[in-house]
Amino acid sequence: MEKPLLDVFDNYFSTRLRLHGRANVIGTPDQNALLLQIPRLIETYLHKIGLAHLFKVKGSIGNGNIARVPWVGIFRKEITENAENGYYIVLLFSENMSSCYLSLNQGITAVEQLYTKTFALRKMREAALKAITHLECDPEAHLGSIDLSSTGDLGRGYEAAAIVSFKYDAHSLPTDDVFFGHLNLLLGYYEKIFKKVGKNLHSLISVSENEFQQVVLEKAASPQALKENISSEEFWGDALSSSGKPTFNRSPIVAAQAIRMADFKCEINAEHWTFTSRAKKHRYVEAHHLIPISHQLKFFHPLDVVENVVCLCATCHRMLHYGVEKERRDLLTHLFKKRKEVLVKRSLDLKVADFLSLYSGGVLLED
Ligand SMILES: [Zn+2]
Ligand SMILES: [Zn+2]
Repeated sequence: MEKPLLDVFDNYFSTRLRLHGRANVIGTPDQNALLLQIPRLIETYLHKIGLAHLFKVKGSIGNGNIARVPWVGIFRKEITENAENGYYIVLLFSENMSSCYLSLNQGITAVEQLYTKTFALRKMREAALKAITHLECDPEAHLGSIDLSSTGDLGRGYEAAAIVSFKYDAHSLPTDDVFFGHLNLLLGYYEKIFKKVGKNLHSLISVSENEFQQVVLEKAASPQALKENISSEEFWGDALSSSGKPTFNRSPIVAAQAIRMADFKCEINAEHWTFTSRAKKHRYVEAHHLIPISHQLKFFHPLDVVENVVCLCATCHRMLHYGVEKERRDLLTHLFKKRKEVLVKRSLDLKVADFLSLYSGGVLLED
């Protein structure tokens, strides 16, 4: 493994210059190492330990533009077959070609689409730390974020999303025994997390009510963001909470669509005063699920749909959660009647009395 790693370290820069930033395959030693030799050596090892059928191994120098951080991914096919989603083992070369990491890492795209870039980086870091709690890691392993001296978004994603990694400096490369020993450990961690957490690590991401409302407002402010229509069902799949119960999470995109439809005005009374939010210079409002999302198990059809989300000023929203019954009742009835027809179209058909009873025990703030 030393030779192909050296081929990458010694030649990647000059190839990048030669190609003027385009990811064309011209058969230089670094490209041969990344696209052919390293993947083959890894496949041979997987064969030897009888796991080859479970994995897809693939090297990349980028798509269109040449990557600043080239990689070779080892994807467990049941979990993912690409670097954008799920989690996988990946050999990552630092941007300055001074070191590389063999890393159990996460794809960032789905989280980024559903939330925002900065939010995604922060949450991937949190998810990695939670995943580590399921493992007993080798003392040589590097836990959490890594340093790829990255100046690009993709590299920064890998830095933040790293779970467990082994680092190799360009001037002291690992022997085959050391390298495949580390790969073997990472395969064990990969398997363990798969068994404990499942196909994606989204259930390890916790989103507070404040974070949710902030992201929703940011999304609502840029219509472009709303086109990335990834449904919450698609994103969360059959994610389980730590207690083993199904989790019902809210999609910020759905909520942002509802806020735009209400034109950032309180749906109890469009005249209600609210301040201007600093983030995007829009009126500050909050999204609320009229049929509380915590009651999802009572419904066959999804509650996280735009028809079920109302846009409220902060006072009205908190009142629905914390107000006395008498004051809430009239407003809830008013909102419900306004939405009844469109809810029925979504097969969410219930009587006012049944609707009100969903609130009688109080509702969670995350509803
Ligand atoms: Zn609410
Ligand atoms: Zn209001």
